[in-house]
Amino acid sequence: MDIVFNCPKCEQELEVDSTGAGSQIECPNCQETIVIPHAGTDGARTAGAPASGSIPTGGIPTLPPAQASSIATSAAAKVEMHLKVPVHNKPVTTLIARTLKPLEVTARESDKKIRVKTIRHTDCIEVGHDTFDEVVSNFLQVTGEPNIISITPMSYTHADIGSQKLLTEYAVMIVYRG
Ligand SMILES: [Zn+2]
Repeated sequence: MDIVFNCPKCEQELEVDSTGAGSQIECPNCQETIVIPHAGTDGARTAGAPASGSIPTGGIPTLPPAQASSIATSAAAKVEMHLKVPVHNKPVTTLIARTLKPLEVTARESDKKIRVKTIRHTDCIEVGHDTFDEVVSNFLQVTGEPNIISITPMSYTHADIGSQKLLTEYAVMIVYRG
């Protein structure tokens, strides 16, 4: 059974299957979002009894050519309207509510990138005071253990300005998510 009604905005006559009653569709003429009324309610009326061999929505491509041409004249306009009206099975609001949460989670996780922090011993000496261990400890604390991917000890040569000597120094390279 089909429901026939008019678009409340542009008065385009629309015909949809009664199973779509209550669903939101886009008017194929003016793109207004409209709710398909239930049969018998204000402005809605039912089409006549389905013709023998009624055509299911979307059934045309599977029909043999001879049959397709025979329905082309009588039912073409009606079927065309069927195909033009996209019927959303679920209310739009439900779809939005369902997709929002996973998107938020995805965004939060993708905010974290793999980064590298290199802490050099020579950068942690303040007037005879060695704060290297403290700096590394603080960094690990702030980053959080689950985000630490690897810690690699390194050594490098440092030209000491005061003594004019090359000193072998050490550092750590921390690969982390943050
Ligand atoms: Zn319309």
